[in-house]
Amino acid sequence: MDDTVMNFNSEIEQAFQSAYHAEKGGDAKWKGVMDSYGSEGLSQEMKEKLLNSEMKIVRGAFPIELRRVYEAIIGKYSAQAGGNQPLQSAINGFDIETKVLEYYQKIKPFSGLGDIFKNASTGTAKYSQGLKGEKQSTYKCKNCGAPRLEEMQYDNCLFCGSKLFERV
Ligand SMILES: [Zn+2]
Repeated sequence: MDDTVMNFNSEIEQAFQSAYHAEKGGDAKWKGVMDSYGSEGLSQEMKEKLLNSEMKIVRGAFPIELRRVYEAIIGKYSAQAGGNQPLQSAINGFDIETKVLEYYQKIKPFSGLGDIFKNASTGTAKYSQGLKGEKQSTYKCKNCGAPRLEEMQYDNCLFCGSKLFERV
């Protein structure tokens, strides 16, 4: 395999491992990894909102932060790809939505088979119960299923960073 492709894959893998082995919600070591890529982490306030949301995690950094590091790695290698076809294909073949979702599946609590399907249909209802009296969320992320917090304005999913919202 081409060296640059190997380096790209290895940096992606290292980012995944660092995020996965971080404490729930991220820790100082993970922050160091983000800093080294110039990627901005979530604010403390945002992390607390997410930790209290329906999108439970049992370990690791938040998916949106891993996405930002992935984006930085992709940016770095794209800049040096030039006419390097193998590297270009490796970068193009890296489906960030799928990879971030796969990561989320690994850090969420295990709740049995069929969980993905169950989550898709009951996610919004469960979340609105959690928000005591607040209006039911009408948008959710197509990628991870996180509901949009209606009191806040934002275009990307706070949890996984995907741009895809849909009305439910
Ligand atoms: Zn999402």
